[in-house]
Amino acid sequence: MLVVLVITSVDRRLRERILEQANAGLLREARLIGAEWTSPDVADSVADTQGALIAHRVTLIDTAGSVLGDSEFDDAQLRALENHRTRPEVAEALRSGSGTAVRQSASAGDVEIYSAVRHPFGVVRVSMAFDAHGVLVRQVRRDVFSAAALASLVALALATLFARTVTRPVLELRDDARAIAGGDLQRRPSLAAPGEVGELASAFHRLAEQLTARVQALEAEDALLRAVSDALNEGVVAFDSRQQVQQINDGARLLLGVREPLPFSLDQLPRDRVLRDAINQALAGRETDDVETTLQERTVTLTARPLTGGGAVLALYDVTPIRRLETVRRDFVANVSHELKTPLTVVGGFAETLRDPTLTSEQRAQFVETILSNTQRMHRLVDDLLDLSRIESGGWVPNPTTLDLDAIAAETLNTFSAAAAAKGIELKRAIPAEGASLSADGMAVRQILTNLVHNALRHTQAGSVMIFSEPGPQNLIIGVRDTGSGIPAEHLPRVFERFYRVDASRSRAEGGTGLGLAIVKHLAEAHGGRVSAESTVGAGTTFRVELPRVQGG
Ligand code: ADP
Repeated sequence: MLVVLVITSVDRRLRERILEQANAGLLREARLIGAEWTSPDVADSVADTQGALIAHRVTLIDTAGSVLGDSEFDDAQLRALENHRTRPEVAEALRSGSGTAVRQSASAGDVEIYSAVRHPFGVVRVSMAFDAHGVLVRQVRRDVFSAAALASLVALALATLFARTVTRPVLELRDDARAIAGGDLQRRPSLAAPGEVGELASAFHRLAEQLTARVQALEAEDALLRAVSDALNEGVVAFDSRQQVQQINDGARLLLGVREPLPFSLDQLPRDRVLRDAINQALAGRETDDVETTLQERTVTLTARPLTGGGAVLALYDVTPIRRLETVRRDFVANVSHELKTPLTVVGGFAETLRDPTLTSEQRAQFVETILSNTQRMHRLVDDLLDLSRIESGGWVPNPTTLDLDAIAAETLNTFSAAAAAKGIELKRAIPAEGASLSADGMAVRQILTNLVHNALRHTQAGSVMIFSEPGPQNLIIGVRDTGSGIPAEHLPRVFERFYRVDASRSRAEGGTGLGLAIVKHLAEAHGGRVSAESTVGAGTTFRVELPRVQGG
């Protein structure tokens, strides 16, 4: 634009200047020719000779405007020329002494500059083609344009070079900023750039350092939070305000049965009404009481709380074991009460009757006997309960010593020999030499065998009761086998439960407490062992107690 402006302005000034100078030259020539024009009659010859001399068109015009002489036209043509009084340069010269005009020549056809001076006989006018000067202007214009173009090119090249050195670090900074924003926290801008760009780069460098430190701190915090929440027994789920799960710990995944990767929608959670209600209330910003529901067959307490910045957090606590224990405790209290109620009623009733003075001494003796046997039954029950609670509470720890199993078995069977003989039942033992020695608590092994043999004798009418052992590389099995009534398959898995009886009234009548096998089971488990039973109704039952072999047997 500047070049165009310069060219236009130079062009105009040059034109004006050339015109001015040409005009001055022509006026000078006109005045000289005027000096030669001594009479109106010589006008045409003066015009011709002077015109030929100066090589410009010379026209001599009288005051009326008629052309008297013209270097380019002969006499005949002169007469045909129109009146020149109205030509601007002629009119101007007549008025003020000199005049000039540039225009298309009616006769010559090109652009001419006309300069005229007043003369006593009229006006002397000299003219020349102005186009010759146009060539010069064009020449100058072309030169200016070439110089300008060259200057522009050089300027452009220099500017590009300069811009490059300035923009390269800026572009690098831009790329670094993009990379860091994209998550490449190791990226750092080069600090080589000079001046303000260098300052910008170093500020940016510090910014990146701080950002990295912050992100690392946040990540560490996040990892800690995650570790803490995963270590919790409780399940924890965090929702944002758009109902998306943003955090969930392992406990919550287990209780809710979800595996989706984070974040996922609330819709992926189980369609439990209580659960959804609790979450929705909390997401709506309302505090609600804890609620309980069943998820994946587990009883779960839900605590949902709104978060201050929107969203909500849900805590899940698995109360299944607590609820199960509560049931066990309720059942236990009911069972114990029930077990004690019958003998207590009997004792109370017979004691009441004893007050009657009319009773015979035989009757009294009989009633006292009944009271005594019921008191013994309650005693046994309380003893068994105490044993059980002692073992169960963990207060009792086995004191293992090396035991001679064969001797203990013989001893146990001995205590039952009278009872067995009365029923005609044979008492046997099958303890191989390698299964005769074990490391266990002597009292415990004696009680296990006593309880099992006692049960076997009670449920066997004929045949035998046998204590046996089966040595294994890791374990030693102690067992009692009888040829008695057997236990129906549906009852077999439950006979080790407290107070579980196959035939309750018969067991009570025989003085059973319903705790014998429960005690056996707990004693075995206190040793790190386990119990099992197999039975065929009518053919007999086998109880096995598997004890770990702490030392060679
Ligand atoms: P109880 O004091 O009633 O015998 P236990 O816990 O010792 O209590 O036994 C539980 C139940 O298992 C008994 O009531 C009985 O029905 C059954 N049972 C135990 N041992 C035998 C056995 N050897 N033969 C058949 N049934 C048995």
